[in-house]
Amino acid sequence: MKLTVIGIDIGGQSLKWGLYSAGSDGLCADVGARRRATSVVETGPQSTPNVTFARLYEQIISRTGRLDTSTLLVGVSTPGLIQSGTILASANLPDWHGTHLPSLISQIFGVSADRVAVANDAVCHTTNIACRNPHDRVFCLTIGTGVVGGFAAGSRVLTDAVGCGEIGHLPSDSRGYSGVLDTVSTGFAAWTCPCGSLGCVELVVSGPGLLRLGRYAAVRLNDPAFTAALGMQNSPQQNLSALVERARYGDPIACDVFALAGVVLANAAAPIRSFFNPSLIAVTGGVARSFDLLRPAFERRLGELCFPNNSLCSSAYSHRIAVDPSGLTGVAGAAELAVRQFQAY
Ligand SMILES: [Zn+2]
Repeated sequence: MKLTVIGIDIGGQSLKWGLYSAGSDGLCADVGARRRATSVVETGPQSTPNVTFARLYEQIISRTGRLDTSTLLVGVSTPGLIQSGTILASANLPDWHGTHLPSLISQIFGVSADRVAVANDAVCHTTNIACRNPHDRVFCLTIGTGVVGGFAAGSRVLTDAVGCGEIGHLPSDSRGYSGVLDTVSTGFAAWTCPCGSLGCVELVVSGPGLLRLGRYAAVRLNDPAFTAALGMQNSPQQNLSALVERARYGDPIACDVFALAGVVLANAAAPIRSFFNPSLIAVTGGVARSFDLLRPAFERRLGELCFPNNSLCSSAYSHRIAVDPSGLTGVAGAAELAVRQFQAY
């Protein structure tokens, strides 16, 4: 039976979707290869799930015409803690708490709720990476509005633990960083995260976090032109682009914002690496496009933290890093998850 699959990736600022087709015996990789369309609907802290999904459905129908719900599957990637399709908590989408997404999508799309697969973004991004790298132990780092981590081994994705992979809400620190931000590098440890904790990774490593750190550093280091440059654009994404551009031109403060973020990320990721010893660290999400700016400090610090004094042990912790800047791993992973769930029945 030919299936039509809608993959939906809910982000903290926008929602992306894609339309796929798959045979019921097809490999999940086929789904991604047959992507036909992707588009975007805005989300954000002011958004509500009913309005967002009504807009999404209108957009899908206007692009594709009415879909046959007897062969339709829907996969949803969403941030936060998810239990049986319900969003228990999401730091960036507070009005979505308590929403049972399969029921809502069933009501609006006219598809049976048991054909709607919902998982958090860590699971969906990891599913896509695992489908493409079935022989690896995968540690997937998704860096966008927030930061999450997912695990897979032999293409089996760890999917059943609520709250699994919330690396963005691990407290971290700047140990191992040294540079022009030395005098400000410890300040973020006192910042409060929307989750209620202090000094969480995503306060400085996410898209909004990098911008927050850039502004903080520019003010503390008395660089008014830099401070102004990071607040003059029309959107947070454009302000982040201004920071990225400055780093690419070699501005020392901008460069070290990324270097410090790389160290903070490595300090949180190193214990996970020692415990799980991934053969592949995959980086996805909106910040993947700028990961080259974090990567040198991230890799250096990881190397300092896993058996640094024993070359035989450190060689056992060999892994490769793959960066996917396509922005589509969540959409494709959600679609693949829906196919996997349907085939398991
Ligand atoms: Zn947090």
